[in-house]
Formats: sequence, structure tokens, C-alpha cells
Amino acid sequence: MRVLIIGAGVAGLAAAVGLRAGGHEVTVAEADGALRTTGAAVTLWSNGTGILGDLGVSLDGAGAPIDVLEQWGEDGRRLITVDVARAARVHGHPHICLPRRRLIERLAGALPPGAVEFGRACTGIAQEGGTVRAVFADGSAAEADLLVGADGRRSVVRDHLWGGDPAEPSGWGTWQGLTPVPIDVTSSHRGLVITGRAGSCGLMPAGEGLLQWWFDMPWSPGEPPPASPLAEIRKRFGHWCAPVPEVLEAARESDLEFFPHHRHRVPRTWGTGRVTLAGDAAHSMPPARAQGANQALEDAWTLAAVLRGAPAVPAALRGYERRRARKAGIVARHSATEDVNKYRPLLSRLVPDSLAGVYYTRWLARISDFLA
Ligand SMILES: Cc1cc2nc3c(=O)[nH]c(=O)nc-3n(C[C@H](O)[C@H](O)[C@H](O)COP(=O)(O)OP(=O)(O)OC[C@H]3O[C@@H](n4cnc5c(N)ncnc54)[C@H](O)[C@@H]3O)c2cc1C
Repeated sequence: MRVLIIGAGVAGLAAAVGLRAGGHEVTVAEADGALRTTGAAVTLWSNGTGILGDLGVSLDGAGAPIDVLEQWGEDGRRLITVDVARAARVHGHPHICLPRRRLIERLAGALPPGAVEFGRACTGIAQEGGTVRAVFADGSAAEADLLVGADGRRSVVRDHLWGGDPAEPSGWGTWQGLTPVPIDVTSSHRGLVITGRAGSCGLMPAGEGLLQWWFDMPWSPGEPPPASPLAEIRKRFGHWCAPVPEVLEAARESDLEFFPHHRHRVPRTWGTGRVTLAGDAAHSMPPARAQGANQALEDAWTLAAVLRGAPAVPAALRGYERRRARKAGIVARHSATEDVNKYRPLLSRLVPDSLAGVYYTRWLARISDFLA
């Protein structure tokens, strides 16, 4: 079957790898002139690393394993420790935090040269009989038997299918960087989230001597951006416990990237006929559960699985959407609470550490088609 995928992000590239393995003829149309490798680090949990293994995409030598997650209050009090290594043991796949560009490179490296066509911004789609036609900004067009809209949060394919249903801002934004900060977390297998009244600070080792650090603060669209975001962050977080001042001391204005948090509603049906969605196009969510890239991989893996030998493509696509909508919908709802940004020290301390690891292991299975 001829498959046209719109967008060469995590969802589009992984779907291309999975569908090619199923014997399909796959083309990926990417609007940009090259792979978009910006972004800080992403954490792939057991579901994401398991799927990559199944797709034959190696993560050897990439990133840092994550065995423990700790939450502290802004005064340095430890609130909760989650033994996430337990979930890795039970599910049989590790958790790895790695630069987003490494993930994109590894996925693209699993495709033959020319599988991704650059500079092709999709502007519209039409279906007739068993064929889907996509048109591009340069006036060209392409036909396929199946089209996957993997074109991210501002998806043109989603707009075309649904007539506009933009993701809603959650009221929070992340200022983040990926730099070599000389603190012990950088060379550890431990992620740290520090929460206080001003927002939260996260620290994750990402391999290659790099630390992913982020600061979450309230943000609304239309709000004028601070003249110097780093000065604003230092004002809000500079008095927090170690190692926050050390991270802020090492940070440079040019290291900062801003990610506004958005959430899509996740309906049970994502497409019509021979068109469907994958990844953020279907379910943008705030990064509170660090599952965005993992859920994009889940979509890619499930899509490839349901199409393997499916006699009726539209029915297989609706089945894929129902399966994925249920699980991605849970993650989107949990992420939208932005609970990691809320300072509730007493509530966090009510959960015993031993239960937190068990709960996390079960939660991962609940939100994964692959692990289930
Ligand atoms: C601060 C932050 C931290 C995060 N941390 C994590 C984490 O730890 N773990 C995790 O799992 N996730 C994390 N995420 C989320 C994750 O980065 C995304 O959810 C995930 O990469 C989704 O990928 P995607 O392919 O669906 O979309 P995208 O990565 O947005 O890719 C879409 C692609 O489509 C292309 N495109 C767009 N429009 C068109 C068009 N019209 N025609 C052709 N091409 C087009 C774009 O150029 C792009 O290449 C985080 C997000 C943020 C903001």
C-alpha cells in the first residue's frame, strides 16, 4: 500500500519505520528544509524504549538511564522518591533520557535515503474512492492509499478533517535548556523535580555530559514575553535550594527555549476514510507526565500493527484510533492537571515511597498499548 505521512517528527518517522517493516511503500513529507532537531531532551519510558526495540531502532550509547525520580520542595525537603527502575524491571525495558535530536537522528537513520522529502508543506487533502490526494505549498501534489497526519500541534491535516479544533493553552509554559552543568545530577541516573510557589524546576541527566533543566511558570498567550527570561527566572527561582542556584548560574540566555503548554481534547475518532492522525496532531499535551514522545511512538507502533494484513483500511484505522484515544486520552487528562507544578508538600508526603514505585509501574501499563 502507498502511505503518505505528513511530518517528520517522532510520530511521522516512527510510523514510517513501522509501516515500511510491514511491507508498505512509505513517503514522509516534511515542511522544513531539514529534520527539525531542536528541543531539549525527552525521556523515553519502558513503553517508548520497548517500541523502539521492536521497530529495530537502536538507542545504544544514547542518553542516560533513569532509575529514580525524586520530588523536593523549594526548601530542599524531599517529598517523594519513585523507584522507576521497578517499572523498567517489570516491563523489561529501560527508561532513557536523551537529547531530542538523538531520537530524531536514530529514527531517520532507520529509513532509506530519500524516504523523507523536505520542503513539502502540506496545505490540504482530499479523498476520492480509495485514494487520498495531498497538495503542498509549492503547488505540487501526491497521491496515496493512506495518509497519516503527523504534523504536530498545529496540524493542517487535523484542521482539514475537523474544520479547526485548536489545542488550548493550559496556563503554563516551560523555559528549558540542555547544557553541560557540573552538578552531581548530570552524571547520575536520577531525575529531580523541585516544586514551590513560583512554579517548578526539573533536572534530568541526558547523557553526553548534558543536563536537561527546565523551569515551569504560569504563562498565557498574549502575555508579553519577559524582556530577559533568564533574569525573570533568576528572580523567581534564584533563592531556592541547591542545586537550583548552580543551574541558574551556569545558564545563558542563548540556552533558553520556550515551550508553551497546550492540550487537545482527544476524541474517539481522529480521521475519516483513509486518513488518520498520529502524535501531537491527535493529542498535544503538557509535558507534565513526560509522555508526549512515548505516546507518539505508541501511535506509530499500533498503527503499523493494525494495518498488518488488514483487509479493510478504513475499519483498521478507526480501530487504531479507538485503541489509542483511550490510552492517550488518559495521559492527556492527567497531564492537563499540571499537578507537578502545584506546591502541595503535605499531599505529596502522604504517599509512601514503596507505593509510588508500584503505582508508577501499573500506570505505565495502563497508558500503553505496547506494554499491555
Ligand atoms: C518542555 C517539554 C518537555 C518534553 N518532555 C518530554 C519527555 O520527557 N518525554 C516525552 O515523551 N515527551 C516530551 N515532550 C513532548 C514531545 O516532544 C512531543 O510530544 C513529541 O515529540 C510529538 O512528536 P510529533 O511527531 O507528533 O510532533 P512534532 O515533533 O511537532 O513534529 C511534527 C513535524 O511535522 C512537521 N510539519 C508541521 N506542519 C507540517 C505541514 N503542514 N506539512 C508537512 N510537515 C509539517 C513539522 O515541521 C515537524 O517536523 C516534551 C515537550 C515539551 C514542550
